[in-house]
Amino acid sequence: MINAATGHRLAYSDLLRQTSSLAISLKKHYSLSKGDVAFILSPHSLQIPILYFSLLSIGVVVSPAIPDDSSSDITRKINLSKPVIVFTTSESSHKLINPTSNLVTRRTVLIDSPEFLSLLTRYNDNKYDVINHGNDVVNQSDVAVILYSSGTTGLKKAVQLTHRNLIVVTTATARVYHPTDHDHDLYSSQPRPTRHVSLTTRTLAAVFGLTVMMRAVSQEETLVLLETPELQEILEAVEKYKANYMPVSPSDVVALLKSDSTSKCDLSSLIFLWCGGAPLSKEVAEKFRDKFPNVQILIGYGLTETGGPTAITKGPVEVTRLDSVGRLSEFMEAKILDPITGEALFPGQKGELWLRGPTIMKGYLGDDKATAETLDSEGWLKTGDLCYFDSQGFLFIVGRLKELIKYKAFQVPPAELEHLLLSNPEIADAAVIPYIPMAFVVRKLGSNITEAQVMEFTAKQVSPYKQIRRVAFINSIPKSHSGKILRRELVDQALSANFST
Ligand code: AMP
Repeated sequence: MINAATGHRLAYSDLLRQTSSLAISLKKHYSLSKGDVAFILSPHSLQIPILYFSLLSIGVVVSPAIPDDSSSDITRKINLSKPVIVFTTSESSHKLINPTSNLVTRRTVLIDSPEFLSLLTRYNDNKYDVINHGNDVVNQSDVAVILYSSGTTGLKKAVQLTHRNLIVVTTATARVYHPTDHDHDLYSSQPRPTRHVSLTTRTLAAVFGLTVMMRAVSQEETLVLLETPELQEILEAVEKYKANYMPVSPSDVVALLKSDSTSKCDLSSLIFLWCGGAPLSKEVAEKFRDKFPNVQILIGYGLTETGGPTAITKGPVEVTRLDSVGRLSEFMEAKILDPITGEALFPGQKGELWLRGPTIMKGYLGDDKATAETLDSEGWLKTGDLCYFDSQGFLFIVGRLKELIKYKAFQVPPAELEHLLLSNPEIADAAVIPYIPMAFVVRKLGSNITEAQVMEFTAKQVSPYKQIRRVAFINSIPKSHSGKILRRELVDQALSANFST
């Protein structure tokens, strides 16, 4: 692994040695044992994967937070997961101080302190057997991590994923995302890489970044950690480390497509972008393919609650279907139900997607009501997404049920209008919000496109009830770390600016 910010490198042999040494230290010096929860608040560093693996190896539950989280979000996560210990850095620890919270007593450890760093090598000579824990044996059904669902429409919930969930998702994504020589020839005219390098800007505190990290380790790839949303730095890192694979959000794809600086960097090593977390427009994906013919976008669809991707556009047929999220992973079952009557629907009919399989979460921690509303007694997870399958098994995500705009008894999926707006060369980014379809638009540099022109552009292409009825211009669209539009913030902005929604 390489930390792109510091240039530090960690060899696989050291990852193993340091993980064992730290696991022994965590038991001996911090008295941690199976079932305890450890809260981790830290930017990307090479200590984080070591810490994750040592905690997991002794059955301690990993509950990570993102340094960009607000103090109140961090407090909520701590209150939900009730950690006995908190690992943080000198730079992030101030976020833990919140006088209004009533946190449980806990121990705080600075993972950039010399004391902690010395633990990584203290028990170097011991042959630590991760399997032999006596009574503390770690089972596949034990909770491994607590991740937090995105909460763009409500309060964050603590998703419990088990060791089994992580094992299945790691093995499945390892196979699916690892290009064989045949795949490589299919997708790229570049020489085949002799070593595989993944570059990730996704946080290790959420499901996408976590699965990318686990997959890379399971495949003994080189994993470059880079924690910045800045395109220029990402491009420079791709060139410097000759990255082959990179997880991205749809906004990253839009940024790559619309940026002129891509021509100034050597991106020839890139083979796959793994895109997920939010809808990617077909037009953007097609234009991306024209601009980067040697880079294949693999779209993955999943939820934190499904432990990772459950459908992926992998395979010669799938990659040509850029409007779909591909076909269901072989380990998942799916059905589409009418959200009102609960009736099972046929291919082509839109309804709520329910999923069942070995990566589905154990439940929400401390929230039996939300768990019962989301997971039924037969193990089906209600995704909250309006979807359909076509007759060939391709899955299409129309939008989140909660985000549908109801206009004069019609349902308007905001993503459809956003994709349309993004196809306009004068528009750099866009978001559509209720209660009438209203668009927030980021103009492309140098563009003077007006409200009337934006409305006319969409009106020509959609049914009358889907027309945009109000436009506001904005410098950037607020998004979550996984690239989801924070619509609530935009609705609040619209209301406070007194737009007649
Ligand atoms: P979260 O678990 O909070 O990251 O969000 C999961 C949600 O993200 C899903 O329920 C979908 O609404 C959305 N999502 C994830 N991947 C995709 C995708 N490829 N296309 C469209 N929506 C997606």
